[in-house]
Amino acid sequence: MAEALLALGGNVGNSRAILDRAINLLCDGKTVRLTARSSDYRTPPWGFKYQPHFVNLAIAVETTLSPQELLERAQAVELRLGRDRAHEKRNGPRTADIDIIAYDDVTLNEANLTLPHPRWFERPFVLLPLAEIAGDRVIAGRRVDETAEAVDAGGIYRLP
Ligand code: ADP
Ligand code: MG
Repeated sequence: MAEALLALGGNVGNSRAILDRAINLLCDGKTVRLTARSSDYRTPPWGFKYQPHFVNLAIAVETTLSPQELLERAQAVELRLGRDRAHEKRNGPRTADIDIIAYDDVTLNEANLTLPHPRWFERPFVLLPLAEIAGDRVIAGRRVDETAEAVDAGGIYRLP
């Protein structure tokens, strides 16, 4: 069993419902078991500004899947929920984006998968939800809660 931390986000459609669905599809209770889920956060768009706000959250899972299998599962769920990579722009609108932030302490540098996620520590929309469920976790030498406290969380709201 490995423990993985994932970050989910979306801004097309009813994002809270879509991300709930994403979690249900991702976590079948057998090969991927949900162990923690953060609150939902309303976050300003990143990079490309002129688009609706995002909803972001983080989950922790226990899994028997390899990192590549987990990515495959995540991408299958993105597709199933209507994500269309061919017609979207970088950092633009999407129904569901699922990123693997960490998989145990595995380091991986493959063409389609980098672990830990190379930009997790600079993204407030990843850090705030992640700190809620894995504050004391150390990823690539950085403690999640300390990293989250240091980042500019302007415009981010925890949703009730
Ligand atoms: P982003 O998540 O950066 O907004 P995408 O979701 O379109 O953009 O992902 C682009 C590519 O990033 C994917 O095709 C995937 O293969 C690759 N990738 C590399 N490392 C990871 C990771 N840790 N988690 C998820 N995707 C990753
Ligand atoms: Mg992604």
